[in-house]
Amino acid sequence: MPHADIVIRAYNSQCPTQPVWQGRNGAQVPSAAVPVPASVPGADLAGGPPDERPAGLTERPAGLTDGLPAGLTGRPARRQPPPRHLADLDPAGRRAAVSDLGLPPFRADQLSRHYFGRLTDDPADMTDLPAGERAELAGALLPRLLTAERELTCDEGTTRKTLWRAFDGAYIESVLMRYPGRVTMCVSSQAGCGMACPFCATGQAGLTRNLSAAEIVAQVVAGARALAGGEVPGGPGRISNVVFMGMGEPLANYAHVLGAVRRLTDPVPGGLGISQRGITVSTVGLVPAIGRLAGEGLSARLAVSLHAPDDGLRDELVPVNRRWKVTEVLAAAWAYAAATGRRVSIEYALIRDVNDQAWRADALGRLLAGQLAHVNLIPLNPTPGSRWTASRPADMREFEARLAASGVPVTVRDTRGTQIDGACGQLAATDRAGG
Ligand code: SAH
Repeated sequence: MPHADIVIRAYNSQCPTQPVWQGRNGAQVPSAAVPVPASVPGADLAGGPPDERPAGLTERPAGLTDGLPAGLTGRPARRQPPPRHLADLDPAGRRAAVSDLGLPPFRADQLSRHYFGRLTDDPADMTDLPAGERAELAGALLPRLLTAERELTCDEGTTRKTLWRAFDGAYIESVLMRYPGRVTMCVSSQAGCGMACPFCATGQAGLTRNLSAAEIVAQVVAGARALAGGEVPGGPGRISNVVFMGMGEPLANYAHVLGAVRRLTDPVPGGLGISQRGITVSTVGLVPAIGRLAGEGLSARLAVSLHAPDDGLRDELVPVNRRWKVTEVLAAAWAYAAATGRRVSIEYALIRDVNDQAWRADALGRLLAGQLAHVNLIPLNPTPGSRWTASRPADMREFEARLAASGVPVTVRDTRGTQIDGACGQLAATDRAGG
């Protein structure tokens, strides 16, 4: 019984990656508040400028989060970077890294097939590599990035949530959700989040650091491995969808998220070979970064966490709105839809008597009518100590009906009977949105 000391109490996010973990003694600890060491022993001694990038990477997101309102954090404090990993590098970069070790460049391809194709990073499995080179290659390019600290399952084992500890003690979470016909991984893009949305548990804790591309990919590889190994009820399977709806603001960690999207979607041995159409990047609405993403030639879906049709309320619910207003965010979203042909998913957490009034449904309908959009209504998962709670069922139905009457495709997430069941599988609607 590996999870006997933990039960799920509640989730705080549409993606069930923000639970309250409860120990045997009943003490509740918001996962975002799991103690994180302020410093790693020896981290300051490593030499060279500490940086949030994995060692060896030179690209950094430039200017995409400049000018954020006070209290929001686009760039984390400088820290020791995660160790460099194969999944941080494109195929040319991997060959160069292998050459730097004094080994033949084609070894990079072999190593990549092990990691992305066979989902292994254990040198003992790599029998096509000379025994003497295996440990060196794995040591240099396949460092263990994430250690599973806790695992929770629900829905008869078809929903699996993992709390991961990174090399520096930072905690992140991912969730695997298996449905008939598809498997979705919800991944974190940052440890913590700097966007400070007041209804979101991660937002309350602030930003710890950006994840490297390989740390993001590692969450998916772990899920793919569990699926391939038959650990998830339903028989061996593959990941079909990845949603960036765990901890963090993906577009505030642009370069690493884009690298992760490439690694997830490039065919083996470049990456895991998941369809680009199965990827959803969810954002608070960082307009310049949405524009840049639209130009990447991807067919990934964009989700925009709107939560209010009017700037007055959105300034409060999604503080980055003080920098980029509703009309600017939606203009960027429609440009994204035009560039990619993909319907944008508009996320709207229904908060009782805050954003769930009929007039706001009508206002939202006017903003979205005729656009390539789908609205995902999510009953708010209250965070501990929050003054907000989910809308009344009748108000949700009214909100949905008014949107539908405006001609806007809309789905309401159905919450199941208990908190546990309601929390698990809440991403279903995002996947169902189609387009
Ligand atoms: N930062 C990104 C992705 C992470 S959050 C974003 O904001 O889009 C994924 C989704 O969960 C977002 O739509 C977010 O607004 C929503 N969310 C966060 N806390 C929630 C809560 N308590 N109840 C319902 N949805 C929540």
